[in-house]
Amino acid sequence: CGIVALVGSQPAAPQLLEGLRQLEYRGYDSAGLATVTSQGQLTCLRAKGKLVNLSQRVEALGAPGQCGIGHTRWATHGKPEERNAHPHRSVDGGVAVVQNGIIENHRQLRDGLEASGVEFQSETDTEVIPHLVSAELHRRLQNGEQPSGSTLLQAVQTVLPQLQGAYALAVIWEKAPGALVVARRAAPLLIGLGEGEFLCASDTPALAGFTRTILPMEDGEVALLSPLGVELYDGEGVRQQRMPTLLTGTD
Ligand code: GLU
Repeated sequence: CGIVALVGSQPAAPQLLEGLRQLEYRGYDSAGLATVTSQGQLTCLRAKGKLVNLSQRVEALGAPGQCGIGHTRWATHGKPEERNAHPHRSVDGGVAVVQNGIIENHRQLRDGLEASGVEFQSETDTEVIPHLVSAELHRRLQNGEQPSGSTLLQAVQTVLPQLQGAYALAVIWEKAPGALVVARRAAPLLIGLGEGEFLCASDTPALAGFTRTILPMEDGEVALLSPLGVELYDGEGVRQQRMPTLLTGTD
């Protein structure tokens, strides 16, 4: 169980797979990734079992794009099957989410979404998140907001207070292809700062080959990552500024 997320100027899929490989030691029963191209084409690929199954699928089908999210799953809610593997997506497919941890009030959130007509594709606690974010995005677009990374950030910031539990998560949206939103609460998440590219992961081994400059996220924080940089906010939405730290002793 681990997450990786990348935005930059190189193809994302190979780097995401490499990051997941470095998180293999944490254990997992399935894996998946989603990428989005600058034209807004979102690809989501998942596979039960070893990471090689996912790699083969990526090789065969392709996952183009310079922005993406990846996951190794250790099932807590729903059997270890492909349909329960992350990423999970909104009904229109436009929002993709990976999550580590447990959403404790997922049953109640799911009941509410199902009552409003959402058809779930999986048995996971995680799937409520893309549906909630997507509903919030639709509401914002209907109010005339233009799709952007900030729109995605604000939608996630609106949804997070509804989630109970301990989690780390990453979200992408086809309408804001160069943007990645990540958040953590009582689960670890680190941002690696590269040159115009940023890699976020559950643990340092996934970042070690990428950069030594690390920004560990603090509890309750949310970040918007794009090739232009990192915007970090606390749980109240107040912008945070602090110096990155240097990763040492990994080789
Ligand atoms: N609770 C989530 C699930 O079962 C995430 C598990 C994990 O952290 O890998 O899908």
